[in-house]
Amino acid sequence: MRFLSGGRSESASSADHSVEQSQAGEGAISARDLVRKQLMEDIGEFLIGNDLEISEANLSAALGLCSGNDIGLANRVAERSANGLPINQAWLDEQRKNGDEAINRISDKLERTLESFAQTSRSARDTAAQYNTEMQAQVDKVDSADEREEIRNLTAVAMAMIERTRHLEQEMRRSESEADSLRVSLAKARRDAEHDHLTGLPNRRAFEGLLERHYREAQQELDALSVAFCDIDYFKKINDTHGHDAGDRVLQAVATTLAKITDDNCHVARHGGEEFVMLFRGLGKTAAKEKLDTVREVFARRKFVNRRTDEPIGTITFSGGVADVFAYPTTRDALKAADVALYSAKEQGRNQIVAA
Ligand code: GH3
Ligand code: MG
Ligand code: MG
Repeated sequence: MRFLSGGRSESASSADHSVEQSQAGEGAISARDLVRKQLMEDIGEFLIGNDLEISEANLSAALGLCSGNDIGLANRVAERSANGLPINQAWLDEQRKNGDEAINRISDKLERTLESFAQTSRSARDTAAQYNTEMQAQVDKVDSADEREEIRNLTAVAMAMIERTRHLEQEMRRSESEADSLRVSLAKARRDAEHDHLTGLPNRRAFEGLLERHYREAQQELDALSVAFCDIDYFKKINDTHGHDAGDRVLQAVATTLAKITDDNCHVARHGGEEFVMLFRGLGKTAAKEKLDTVREVFARRKFVNRRTDEPIGTITFSGGVADVFAYPTTRDALKAADVALYSAKEQGRNQIVAA
């Protein structure tokens, strides 16, 4: 059992090609079906094995965990299991809550600051209006009998007004700097929500937004558009042989390599686990495949060494699948086609890019 509390857990990935390898001879069921079946089994095993309800929230958490898309949760589950602590409903609910809390906290604070800013402004306006009326009344009286007395009154009102506005100015300045620092925190929280912390790449959610935008624009401007999936070959073995930290550094190296070819028309994101998703605006699947193939080839020639132990890791390769977006009814279908092409690349021996 993979995700049960008490045992050492192992995170699975949607592209669990080991399944496809071991059962490739069965013919009738496609590799893709096998992978999906495995994913369903993993989800069932996680929920039932930990005695969790079959609810929408739990299914969604289990999917993120078992598909490898919620690495954070996978790591926390693994850590908890390793410590022999239970994965129960209360703990799972807490994990979900924590995810949303950071942004909510900042939003609440920003709202409060804006409210106090508005309050200060209202108060400033009321004060100004009040002093205006008072001053006007004093000015009106200046023509009357004892001018000196009136001027003294006028000065007193003016002094009070200066004192009060000075105070308001300070309050406004404080609100302003608080709002500024909150704006920075909010921008950071937004950035964090769209970036993968390990590789620094945009995450799957951010990619969805990018793809949506490029799809719309490319459709209007009749540009070609293709998408690709890349997946590190035998990555599990790297983790098993050299440890999770070395695995993390390999992930970072692949991310950096793929990021080198990105620009305004080419984007890469970490899709989850050791899988990356890309889009190529202005390139059809053949041109995109060529571009990716060059990166793959150069990367496959590098020799890696475990920085911690000086042990040689050797070469690291990745496989890819590319598809033309406009050959399919939706971007979702195009992504599916690229994923299927990636499976073909794996089936055909890995370290290659296949066009759908
Ligand atoms: P294939 O060539 O068929 O792709 O085989 P693979 O071993 O690369 O694929 P598999 O899906 O069997 O294993 C993927 C592994 O990636 C399993 C999981 O523990 C590991 N993994 C997922 N996310 C991370 C991460 O953030 N860091 C590390 N170090 N490992 C991760
Ligand atoms: Mg994978
Ligand atoms: Mg892999």
